Amino acid sequence: MKLETCDVVIVGGGPAGCAAACVLADQGHKVVVLERESFPRYHIGESMIPFTYPPLERIGFIPKLKQSHFTKKFSVQFVAPSGRASQPFYFFNRYDRDTVAQSWQVLRSEFDLMLKEHCESKGADFRERHQVLSLLKDGERYVGARVRNADSEEFELRAPITIDATGRDALAATTNVWRRGDPKLNKIAVWTYYRGSKRDEGIDEGQTTVAFIPNKGWFWHIPQHHDMVSVGVVSDAKYLTRDGVKDPKAILEREIPNNQWIADRLATGTCTGEYWITNEYTFRSEFSAADGLVLVGDAYGFLDPVFSSGLMLALKSGVAAGDAVHEALVAQDYSAHRFAGYSAVMREGIENMRKLVYAFYDPAVSFRMVTDKSPELAGDLTDCLSGDVNKDFTRLFAAFSEFTPMPEPLPYGVPKPSAAGAPLVAA
Ligand SMILES: Cc1cc2nc3c(=O)[nH]c(=O)nc-3n(C[C@H](O)[C@H](O)[C@H](O)COP(=O)(O)OP(=O)(O)OC[C@H]3O[C@@H](n4cnc5c(N)ncnc54)[C@H](O)[C@@H]3O)c2cc1C
Repeated sequence: MKLETCDVVIVGGGPAGCAAACVLADQGHKVVVLERESFPRYHIGESMIPFTYPPLERIGFIPKLKQSHFTKKFSVQFVAPSGRASQPFYFFNRYDRDTVAQSWQVLRSEFDLMLKEHCESKGADFRERHQVLSLLKDGERYVGARVRNADSEEFELRAPITIDATGRDALAATTNVWRRGDPKLNKIAVWTYYRGSKRDEGIDEGQTTVAFIPNKGWFWHIPQHHDMVSVGVVSDAKYLTRDGVKDPKAILEREIPNNQWIADRLATGTCTGEYWITNEYTFRSEFSAADGLVLVGDAYGFLDPVFSSGLMLALKSGVAAGDAVHEALVAQDYSAHRFAGYSAVMREGIENMRKLVYAFYDPAVSFRMVTDKSPELAGDLTDCLSGDVNKDFTRLFAAFSEFTPMPEPLPYGVPKPSAAGAPLVAA
């Protein structure tokens, strides 16, 4: 079988894989990104929270976003089932107007293609229609990937370190049975797109709306360019599929009248007719890294999307893992424990966001109850929701715990202990 070598194999060319590729290519490493699909390809995950900005800035992508046609997002609002909307929360009321406070709603097919071209411009070798069939191991140590290219030829790509950025397919976690669910966050999502529906104007045009339905279910309403809007509903599977309704179109159409604001917005629009459904919800990989391997983005863990944290976490983890991999390459030491710092940062951030997700789904609780009682904590709450997740939120979560139990951190997402005697350090 044909054999190739490089410094770093990255499996998956989504935001997490591209961010890692940018960081490593910037350092002059020979990086190969293996992507199964041909870009542009469809993907969900379109609304960015403010603190997606720092990792995008780190990889030099902000100027391209500023020149892009993507809809600008300055705020978020919440809407009760009756249709009554909250005051929009404008990010510039807390953050710098020229940087973090301005975000984007992106069409992922276009955004991911731009990211791909961006990492290529830095020297990464991005190969589309290259499916990784399996990760290669030498004893307990990962040493690259077995790949099938667009011509159905198979070859081995070997490297001292491999980054798993395969998204919710989670190649390493699935193959190794490291995937751990979060039973309380076992939701399903159904979504589609409308063209020509009613939109706000001016600064509110790109606002994300979270619109509630009964049982703590919710709609997302994400305005995009070309007069399109992304609309989806999330709730417990039992609720959305009640009375045996399984068809995504029927599920979505049945819920639209349950929020008057959503019904009113969509009334003048035309649905594109394509519907998506997913039920593989929140999970984390038991291990974040093994010898010669590190997991990033959704392949490391996926959190319920209610606060649109996915892109921020994916990009942040790609950058942080990229830095850790660079240090490993310099030290020629690829053992799992080198990723302890990376894992600690990602776990802390995900756990903080996860606490708010739990509180959100508690039918007895609203965030307002907490900030009414402790107004001085409103800023901390905004920071966590905006993606500034690696801070000390002890006081915030103590205040929440007076209303709802805060979940204990999951014991997952840590480096796998190295196998005794494994040849970790390069000769
Ligand atoms: C219903 C829903 C709504 C969401 N809404 C939002 C939102 O509003 N905002 C937000 O920030 N996030 C949202 N997300 C989350 C967001 O989609 C993800 O967090 C984000 O895409 C993760 O990026 P990634 O690079 O880790 O993975 P991905 O973007 O999934 O990229 C992984 C890539 O790996 C490739 N791949 C997989 N297996 C292989 C293989 N064997 N060989 C080669 N290539 C492979 C895939 O083709 C894919 O291109 C949402 C998610 C869901 C499910």
